[in-house]
Amino acid sequence: MSKAITGGCQCGAVRYRVDVELSNPHLCHCRMCQKAAGNYFMSLASAPREKIVITRGNPAWFHSSDIVRRGFCPGCGTPLFFDPVNTDEMLVTLGSLDDPSRYTPTSEDSVESRVHFLPHLPGLHQKVTEDDFGPDEIKAISESNHQHPDHDTDRWPGEDKQ
Ligand SMILES: [Zn+2]
Ligand SMILES: [Zn+2]
Repeated sequence: MSKAITGGCQCGAVRYRVDVELSNPHLCHCRMCQKAAGNYFMSLASAPREKIVITRGNPAWFHSSDIVRRGFCPGCGTPLFFDPVNTDEMLVTLGSLDDPSRYTPTSEDSVESRVHFLPHLPGLHQKVTEDDFGPDEIKAISESNHQHPDHDTDRWPGEDKQ
C-alpha cells in the first residue's frame, strides 16, 4: 500500500488527506493563480471532491470568481485548495503536500501569462542555505521552528519539540 496522501498549511491549523491518487499535476501561470500563490505560478492537482477530506481545522475561502473559490489557512495564509464549485473535482496545492515531490507536473497551463524569465530560472546562480545563513542562525531557526512537521500529528502545537 502506498503512503497516505496528506498535507496542510505551514502553521498546522488546517490539515487534509486525499483518499485517491491525485491526477493532472500541473503548474498554472494564470494571473489569478500568481496572485493567490504570491508567486510566479501555482502548482495544483485534482481529485474527486469527496476524496479530499479536511482532517483538522477549517480553511477560509475567497471566491476569485463566481465559479472558483480558493481555500487557505486563515491563520498563516498558506494556499491549500482550488475549488471549481460547479464541478465534482477539487484541486490541492502540490507545495502543501507533506511530500511535495510525490507528483511531477505534467503540464504548464495558461502559459500566455507566464513570467518571461521563468524558462531561464535553472540557469540562476545556485546557493545552498549555508551560503546565506550562518550556523548560529540556522540553529536559531531550527530550534524555534513553528512550522508543522510533514506528517499528521495528534496534537498541534505540541508541547514537546517535534
Ligand atoms: Zn496555517
Ligand atoms: Zn490559474
